Parts: sequence; structure tokens; C-alpha cells
Amino acid sequence: MINWRTLMQELDHWHCSGQLVKLWWRDDDADQPGDNLRHLLRLSSDYAVPLGLSVSPALFLPDLPEFVAQHDCTILQHGYAHLNHAPAGQKKCELGNHRPANVITDELKMGAARMHETFSRQFIPVMVPPWNRIADKVVAQLNMLGFTGISTYTARHSASEQGLLRCNTHVDIINWRAGGAFVGTESALALLTHHLTMKRANRADPDEPTGLLTHHQRHDQSMWQFLDDLLDKTCGHPAVRWLAPAKLFAAVAH
Ligand SMILES: [Zn+2]
Repeated sequence: MINWRTLMQELDHWHCSGQLVKLWWRDDDADQPGDNLRHLLRLSSDYAVPLGLSVSPALFLPDLPEFVAQHDCTILQHGYAHLNHAPAGQKKCELGNHRPANVITDELKMGAARMHETFSRQFIPVMVPPWNRIADKVVAQLNMLGFTGISTYTARHSASEQGLLRCNTHVDIINWRAGGAFVGTESALALLTHHLTMKRANRADPDEPTGLLTHHQRHDQSMWQFLDDLLDKTCGHPAVRWLAPAKLFAAVAH
């Protein structure tokens, strides 16, 4: 059984071998101020853990920019309008092969201009594809559009591709197949310790920071409690470093 002790033992392994456990935090779908977004930002601030918020440029409401400007967080671009263009029965996808590449890139370009203009220095040109899915033909265009990074889900195969630095996420605390409920403490800790042990064994890129993935609009009490516990325990461990998204994505291979 995997529990908090398992995680602490894994962190201790890293500490004993003099290695840092690099973590980062991405939260998706910020579109307006609200209690959940406030709660999320408070956690980030209370624990001094940097937060990357992904925002869809065609979706956010006018009061979001001023609200996030009052907080210490980094904004990433979450596709364009978070619309599904896959036919019924297929996995949801906005940036897939269902539309011509130029139609998608025109949207992303327009979106990036809006993000730069609205969020100014809080925004970094990193693409977070909705549903963590993106066609290769779109990835190939991103650098030309000004993007320098990309983030999806599961361990990366390569740190840099097509002029983009990739830092994925690995610990999604939501079980989407179960209607968006909490995956549970054991499953969330299993995802986290699995990526750490894979890195330690060189079976996953040891340089990829392990990414926590949250969706604040969906959080219930059990998820808030898990996050509080996770931040509390990891921040109290000497091997752990929570990295700021802006720094994480600053080391771009040109
Ligand atoms: Zn999303």
C-alpha cells in the first residue's frame, strides 16, 4: 500500500544520494475569479510554492487579468477556446488533426497576442494543449508562433523538440473517468512516487521536474485537503524544490 510514508521514504532516497527532488505545479482552466481560484492562490502563497495557471485566451472573463495581477503566479496558454473538434466517440481534442494546421495556428497566434497584451509579464509563451493532446503538425508550428515551451501529461521522451522545451505533468489528482472525482490519496501518491522512482532508476528523464496537475474549478474538500498535505510534507523535506514555471521554461534550447 502506498501512503505518505512511502513518499517520505522516496524523498529520503533522493536526499541520501545528494539529489534534489524537482517538482512543479500546473493548474488548468482559469477563466474567472472565484472562491476556488482564491483558495488555490492562497495555498500557493501560504507554502510559497510557485504556480503556473493555464488560461484559454478566448475564454477568460474581463475580471481575471486584474485579479491574477494581484497574485504571484505565472500564466500559460491553454490552447485557444478549449473547444473539442474531434468527432463524437473520439477523444476530445482542440489542437488535433481535425482541422487544417493554418486554421489552428491562426487561432493560437491571435490567442498569444491577446495573452501577451493582457497578462504582460505574468505570461510566458508556453503551450498547454487542452486535454493534453496536440497533433505533431501543430507542435511543429509553435516555435514559429513565438512559443518556447510545451506541457502535456506523462513522462517526456525528450526535453526539447522543434525549438520547444517540454516539461510535462505526471500527477493528475482527478479521475476523469469517474466524473471528475478525486483519484484518492493512494493513487495520487502512487503517480508521484512512480515518476520519482522511474527518474531515480534512469527509466524516465531524470532532469524532468515532476509535475502536479490540478483543476481548481473541480476541487472538492478531499482534493484541497490532499493538496494542503502534499505541500506541507514536501515543503518540509530538505530534498524538495518546487520550481517556478518561468524558471523551468527559461532554459530553452535554441
Ligand atoms: Zn483544460
